Amino acid sequence: MASDRPVHPAVRPVVHRDVVCPFCGLGCDDLTVEEEPPSTLTVRSTDCPVARERYSRMPAAEPPRVAGVPVPLAEAVDAAAAVLGAAQAPLVAGLGTDVDGARAALSLAERLGAVVDHALSDGLYRNLAVLQRTGWIATTLAELRNRCDLLLVTGPDPATLHPRLFERWVTPAPAFQAPPSREVVFLCGEPLDTTRAVLSGLPVAVLAGDPAKIGDAAAALAAAVADPFRASGAAGIAAGDIAALAERVVTARYAVVAWAAAAFEGPHIDLTVERLVHLVRAVNRHTRCAGLPLAGHDNVVGVNQVCTWQFGVPLRMSLAGGTPLHDPHRFAWARYAEVADTVVWVSAFRPEVPTFPAGQTVVALAPPGTAFADEPAVFIPVGTPGIDHPAHVFRSDTVVALRARGLIDRGLPDAATVLKAIAAALPQESPPC
Ligand code: SF4
Repeated sequence: MASDRPVHPAVRPVVHRDVVCPFCGLGCDDLTVEEEPPSTLTVRSTDCPVARERYSRMPAAEPPRVAGVPVPLAEAVDAAAAVLGAAQAPLVAGLGTDVDGARAALSLAERLGAVVDHALSDGLYRNLAVLQRTGWIATTLAELRNRCDLLLVTGPDPATLHPRLFERWVTPAPAFQAPPSREVVFLCGEPLDTTRAVLSGLPVAVLAGDPAKIGDAAAALAAAVADPFRASGAAGIAAGDIAALAERVVTARYAVVAWAAAAFEGPHIDLTVERLVHLVRAVNRHTRCAGLPLAGHDNVVGVNQVCTWQFGVPLRMSLAGGTPLHDPHRFAWARYAEVADTVVWVSAFRPEVPTFPAGQTVVALAPPGTAFADEPAVFIPVGTPGIDHPAHVFRSDTVVALRARGLIDRGLPDAATVLKAIAAALPQESPPC
């Protein structure tokens, strides 16, 4: 579907304003995007490298393929339904799609008795595992912008994954502070040059430390917060610096501890996140403090929300037994792909589909121009949410669903429509005797 905003066809280029960007969990809603018909998009209002690259990759539509042969959409849908009807151990994954697409994918998975997961759930589970084990005190982006007076950024600069974090949510003056003031401290990570430039008007401190030992630094800081006489060095940061930071944290009015777990490196990252969550809890004995886990590429947060409200359990679940069974280890898509015989892979935000073991039947829904190492049994090109059709996507902080309107019309179906059509074309189940 084209833009909500009527534009005279003689106007070139078409300018779309206040566009919601669906490509990362920040959900920036202020983009200006120029459209040079039929489908060339250029972001004009920001240098965000993720947005610029994603909007610029909008090739023309191409026909669906069955076994590599171009076919009409209806034929591809029937072919997909035929292979899925015969599946013994199906996997419905990828799930890079909007809320409607997620609902349709989950309905199809229910019909098939499939295992369900999102391509980016590894990053999600670095946080979700801790939430499940211990709970946490978390905040929203709006609270960060309007109330936070001390932002503690832990680990690698999150702007690598969420480029406009500081510009949109940290440098604007807080609404509920008089006089407004805000300080940013980087712990076990260095700000990017672009971040330093954006933050040039704020006090910034860097305790670089060892990025592989963020958990150690968080634990040392939590101990120093609880008892200043127990301050010790950690992760290459001196004891005196930990003690000074602990003193600064407990005198803040509203401290926020931010992290992008997907950027952390090493094994058992959930244990690192657990120590950050423990730090937040320790600071709350003295002053207000909350965590800000940053995530949300390819609407992974939104798809997890849909899964939870539809089935009562989060991603990494199986519907094979008729009732949802959640197992974050067994039903991680990369693990289950080793035993699945048939895979439905949905990747509407990016033209990328992983390679699956030989002999597996793959039905791929992805943008035109997707390159495959092995041609899937069925490939159906679909539109990108918020580009080819209106879409709801969730922000990183899970509380806000944004509506991204469609901008261009490449004649591509949306993933929800295709998934519903496949479900409708599945062989009818035999009535019980
Ligand atoms: S920061 Fe994220 S939401 Fe904002 S413009 Fe860049 S990719 Fe889009």
